[in-house]
This record gives sequence, C-alpha cells and structure tokens, in this order.
Amino acid sequence: MLTHQHLIPLTDQKASIDFARELDQNDPLNKFRDRFYIPKDQYGNDLIYFCGNSLGLQPKTTKSYIDQELHDWANLGVEGHFEATNPWMPYHEYLTSTMAKIVGAKNSEVVVMNSLTVNLHLMMVSFYRPTSTRYKILIEGDAFPSDDYAVSSQLHNHNISRKDGLIKWKARPGEDLPRMEDLEAILKKEGDQIALIMIGAVNYYTGQFFDLKKITQLGHQYGCKVGFDCAHGAGNVSLNLHDSGADFAVWCSYKYLNSGPGSLAGCFVHERHTNDPTLKRFAGWWGHNKETRFNMRHEFDPIPSAEGWQLSNPPILSMAAIKASLSIFDKAGIDQITKKATQLSGYLSNLIKNMNNDRISIITPEDADQRGCQVSIKVENADKSLHEQLTAAGVITDWREPDVIRAAPVSLYNTFEEVFMMVEKLKAIISDKS
Ligand SMILES: *Cc1c(COP(=O)(O)O)cnc(C)c1O
Repeated sequence: MLTHQHLIPLTDQKASIDFARELDQNDPLNKFRDRFYIPKDQYGNDLIYFCGNSLGLQPKTTKSYIDQELHDWANLGVEGHFEATNPWMPYHEYLTSTMAKIVGAKNSEVVVMNSLTVNLHLMMVSFYRPTSTRYKILIEGDAFPSDDYAVSSQLHNHNISRKDGLIKWKARPGEDLPRMEDLEAILKKEGDQIALIMIGAVNYYTGQFFDLKKITQLGHQYGCKVGFDCAHGAGNVSLNLHDSGADFAVWCSYKYLNSGPGSLAGCFVHERHTNDPTLKRFAGWWGHNKETRFNMRHEFDPIPSAEGWQLSNPPILSMAAIKASLSIFDKAGIDQITKKATQLSGYLSNLIKNMNNDRISIITPEDADQRGCQVSIKVENADKSLHEQLTAAGVITDWREPDVIRAAPVSLYNTFEEVFMMVEKLKAIISDKS
C-alpha cells in the first residue's frame, strides 16, 4: 500500500490503471461505495464525483431514516417527542458520540445544532470578548468568505473597524501557503492585542491542514482565545479537537459528513469552558437544564456541556439524515477514513506530478500530515473552460478563480481507479489545448 509521508514519484508500473485497481482491491473501505447514490451522466454511467468537499453524496439509507420520522409524526403528532421510535426530545443526543469521535472530542464537548455560520457567531459571543487593548481578530489570508464576514461583523458589532481589528495571516508573495513562522512573528508583534485567532482547520482553497495544537498553544501563550472552522476537516482529517486545546470549533455536516444540503452543523466547546457559568452567551430554551426546561418560569440554567449553547428545538428531519450518515462513519471508522483520504490525495498528486507539465502545479502541501483528501491543482493560463471540459468528460470538480481546480476524492465513496481516470481525462484535455 502507498503510504505517502511525502509524495514519491511513480514508476511506470505504478502509474497504470492495473495498479489503481489493485489499490482499490486492497482498500478496507472498498465496500462502502455501495452505500451511496453516485450521480450519473445522461447515459447512466457513474460520474467521477470529486466534489464531496462541497456537498457529500446521499447515503442510500437516508430516505428510510427520514421516512421513519415522517411516519411517527403522521401517527403520533406531538406525542412523537416521547413516543416516536426514536423519541424527538433527546434526538440530538443520538448524534453526539459518533460526532465526537469524528472530531476527536469528549461527548460533553460536542453538540449538533443550527448551521455553521450561526454557530461561529454563537461561539464568538462567548469567546470574542474585546477590551480596549485586546480586541483584534486574526484569520488566515484566504479564509472562506462567510468566516471573513462573520468575524468582520463581530468587530463591527463592537464598533471596531475591520482596518484596525482584522489581521490576516497570509502566504508570502509568490507562495500559496501561509507559514507557521509568519504566524509566530505576528503574535510576537501584536499578540497582546489579539483577542481571538479563528482559522479554517483545513483551508477550503488550498486543502492545507494546519497544526491545530501548535496554533492553539501559540495563541494561548499570548493570551488569545483560539477557535477553528472545521468545515473542510470534519470527516476528512484527524482533528483531535480535545487534545488540540482549542477553545471552540464549528463545522458543517453537508460536506464530508454527507448529511444533505444545508443540514445542521456541529459545535465544539472545550470542557474547561462547558461548565463556566460566568461565560457570556446568547441563550435559548434548548440550552436550559433538561429537568426544568418545561417549567418555563426559571432563570436560565445552562446545561453544563456544549448542549448549553443550544437555542431552539432542532429540526428532526434534518437530524435523521445526519443519523443515517453517522451510522456509516461508525461502521467505517474515522481512522480508516482519514488514512485513506491522504492516500487518495497522495496518489492523485503523484499522478499529476508524473504528467511533467510545466503549466500544472499542486498547491496542497505534500506532507501527509498537512492535508486530507483534497488536492488543489493550479493550471497556469487556464480559464474556466478547462473546468467545463472536465465536467463534460464526466469529472465533477470545483473551479476557483483564477486558475485552481479543487478535486476531493472522498474515502467513503471514491476509488483509486477514479483518481487514475480523472488524471487521464485531464491529460487528454490539456494535450488537446497545447
Ligand atoms: C462550507 C463552509 C462554510 C459554509 O457556512 P454555512 O453557514 O454552512 O453556509 C463556512 N465556512 C467554511 C470554512 C466553509 O468551508
């Protein structure tokens, strides 16, 4: 089996489809593809779907999980809260332990609620507490737009301008990836003014998986709070959130977690904070002590776990889709999934390097500890027509201006053969053009 600490050039034999098929045969997760609906072209052939980093595919069991709740709702009405096959009252609790395993946290540190950006705001209410001297927020240079808008609006909410309050940890000119030593330099210079460091654990554009523990330790050393957006990390890499020491983290469930478009998000609060009644927070009745929630007259008494940040009673139909997907993660095991993720991306990167085409480079880090399954491929002088040709050839990837193809072969349903075929198709398109 390929184990890519760093990328190794391929021999001719290893750059063949037979080798790709051998990798699939030896893949302990190869049976899981069958559990998903694979989108097809007009002739009924499976598309090569490398967009699981945007929207994960639908498990075949999702419908029956949702049908169960529709059935119980039809037959039981309000009694379903207690009498449904899966009583709705504690429904979010059914998701906790698998979700906690996926992100490497204790059960008490994890809750599924709201959507990602909402959770990010709720976490910043608690963990971004600016003072007159410590009020800045640091994010990575190429942060996802929603994260940038969220932190900027938090600054604005405290009457702090973006110009004064937002620090970006950027890649150096001519480079694609921000360097750890530059983060250290920023902190050395203005760490005592930074209230919060909020980084995408796996950057959505480059696929770079940051060292969460190192960033957290560094931030804490300067007295900053540290949180991570794990949208591209959950279900893809080993996040080890508890061990990282991060103050909070958020992620969505519709990318690598295959829980359906716009499905509910995850939230992590480190256990050193979950039972701290002095923390400021925006509250709702679902975060209140379960014993007295329905007495309706009590002062807010937060649940001493991440659940204490819940606002509303949650959408059960959406949670049913998450439950269906998590049962697959339970069977496959997150360790196998994250291991295969780096093997798929390593293989894809190797095949692309083997093209020896000067126009093509990979911006995702080579080191397996610094990436998941996504490979961001830069094609000089390319435009969106390259992406359109790939799509026409049955390869679903994602195009990011000005010149990057993001390809994410996913452990649960993609194969090494698909990776091989994608590169063959890319070769054909590129050689046609030059
Ligand atoms: C996908 C993604 C989002 C999306 O936010 P929603 O609130 O789920 O719409 C936000 N941040 C990052 C880093 C993402 O990758």
